[in-house]
This record gives sequence, C-alpha cells and structure tokens, in this order.
Amino acid sequence: MKLLADRAIAGEPLAREEARALLDTSDDNLLTLLDAAYAVRRHFHGKRVRIHVLENAKSGACPEDCGFCSQSSHYETPAEVYPLESVEQIVEGARRAKAAHAWKYCIVTATTAPSRRDLEVICEATRRIKAELDLTVCASLGALTEAKAAELAAAGVDRFNHNLETGPDHFAKIVSTHTFADRQATARMAKQAGMDICSGGIIGMGESKDDVIDLLLALREIDADSVPVNFLDPRPGTPLSKLGIIRRPLDPRYCLKVLAVTRLMFPSKDVRVAGGREVNLRSLTPLALYAVNSIFTNGYLTTPGSQASADHQMILDAGFEIEEVAPGTHLTERPSARSASVTTTAL
Ligand code: SF4
Repeated sequence: MKLLADRAIAGEPLAREEARALLDTSDDNLLTLLDAAYAVRRHFHGKRVRIHVLENAKSGACPEDCGFCSQSSHYETPAEVYPLESVEQIVEGARRAKAAHAWKYCIVTATTAPSRRDLEVICEATRRIKAELDLTVCASLGALTEAKAAELAAAGVDRFNHNLETGPDHFAKIVSTHTFADRQATARMAKQAGMDICSGGIIGMGESKDDVIDLLLALREIDADSVPVNFLDPRPGTPLSKLGIIRRPLDPRYCLKVLAVTRLMFPSKDVRVAGGREVNLRSLTPLALYAVNSIFTNGYLTTPGSQASADHQMILDAGFEIEEVAPGTHLTERPSARSASVTTTAL
C-alpha cells in the first residue's frame, strides 16, 4: 500500500481495479490502508482540519424526491418547513460559524433550483459575509443555469455544492425527479463559472461496492475540488428509512476504508467526513482524520450532530490542527490561494 500512497503523492491516483480491491481489504489490514491514506493526507494537508458549518437557509417542501431526504415534499417527515431566511439571518449564521472556528460556511436551500429572489438574497448575504468575516462561502441551491452560476461567482461564492449522491447505475433507484446527468451538468456549470465544485455522495443506500467506485470515478471526472462523504443516517418517513431495505448502521471499519480509498483517489483535494459519521463511525470517528482533512460540525441540515466544542477537542486530542482563513485575507482570491492560520492548543 505504500506504493499506492507514493503514486498518489506523485499525482497518480488509484485506478478503478485498485480502488475496488481496497474496499475489500481485510480488517487486519485496515491500519495499513489508513496509514497509506494518512501519508497522502499529510503530504497535501499536513495535520490541518477544515471545519465546515451548514446553514439550512430554506427548509422542506422540496419538489424533488431524493429517497434519503426528509425535506422532500413527497414524504411525510418531521422536517421543518420554512421559506428562505433573510440576508441578516444568513449573515448571523456566518457569524456563528466563525465563532465555531469554521473554514467554510455552507448556505443550503431545499429546492429544485434557485428562484430569482433566492439568488438575490444569497448573493447579497455572500457579499456581506465576505466584507465582514474571514470565512469562505459555499452555496448549495439545486440546479443552476450558466447565468445563475455566473451571478453567484461574481458575488463571491467560492464553492458550489451539488452532490452526485451515488453511482450512475444506482441513481435512478434513489431519485426519479431528475437524473444523474442533470447533476453532472450543474456541477460542470458551477466549475465553468469559476467556482470550486463540492460534490460527493452518500454511502449506505443499498449500493454495491462497484457503485461506490463508480461514484468516485464520476466525481473525478467532474474534477470535484471538495468531496463530502456522507454515511446514511436514515431520516424517519423517507423511503430509505424503511426497515429491511438496507443494513444499518454501517460497519465503521468499512466507513474508514471508503474514506481511505477516497483520499487515495483524490490525493490533494478536500475530502470531508460528512453527515452520519456520528451513528456510523461511532467510536472510530477520530480515525477518520487520518484520511480526511475536513469535517462538518454543529449538526447537519435536519439531523443533530457532534457540537463544535467536542469536535475541537477531538481534533486537538488526536494531534491535528484547526485551520482557519487567516485574518485579513483578501477574500476575492481563489480558496487555494488563501493563507491560513492554525490552532493547535485548547480553544
Ligand atoms: S436532497 Fe435536495 S433536491 Fe433532493 S429532496 Fe432534498 S432538498 Fe430536494
């Protein structure tokens, strides 16, 4: 496995067959696999951890039917329903994110695509956040057009999130209201407009290991800059919460293998352990830091999660550092060009 790590560092990420074989690695070799992922992570990201904080800026009543999502109007779920927050509310969320030592603030709306008014509010909020805070901004607003992508990029949105969710052969079993190709198209539009693209998926939706590799290859094909890896934490009322469809929770050792393979396939990119880590990785969560360089804190869109103080402690206990955008950094530069500050001791 050291050879695979050396190759990844030299710019030759895993091929399909290699990645697929690693998902079948025996548990006895898990630490060897994780060590290979760590060598790559350390080369490109040192011991730095970027914290992301989500803002559910518009919740519920989404016309799409993603089978994992409690915000879809197709399912009866306890998820809150509310319209788009005001500019001030979104900016206030960014202040809370900064107080949680976030690198990135992720503004998310439950929708097929952003309306004109939604777009104006998100753009104005982004301009205000950039003027006030040393923080990078990601938006996740559904499908884009070229014009909308250009507007977001001009307002200063650094990164656009649009997950491919799962492998192309499995996608239609999870979503019927839009296609895998639709999602690829939006991701490409965001990238062409000059934003980084954040795109990942969800593990544990009944997919095969081949589907997992297909997803990772598709993410490589769209040149994802940031890859969030979620592990399904079934939401009550959604089709994927129905007992018997899938095994849950996931084996935490399998989750670590997926994260290590993702690192070896995306050597220099932001790889993030995302939703569902608390219930699926459980006590093995700190080991994820050896593969990923980024986490979410303070919960997810409709799911509570680990809180910032506990995550800070986990990062520092494991000997890693919290990376923040350096004070005064000129925030119109690309994220990769920005300087960073790190915290290595108790906050
Ligand atoms: S994942 Fe997004 S697009 Fe799909 S139902 Fe949920 S909010 Fe709508």
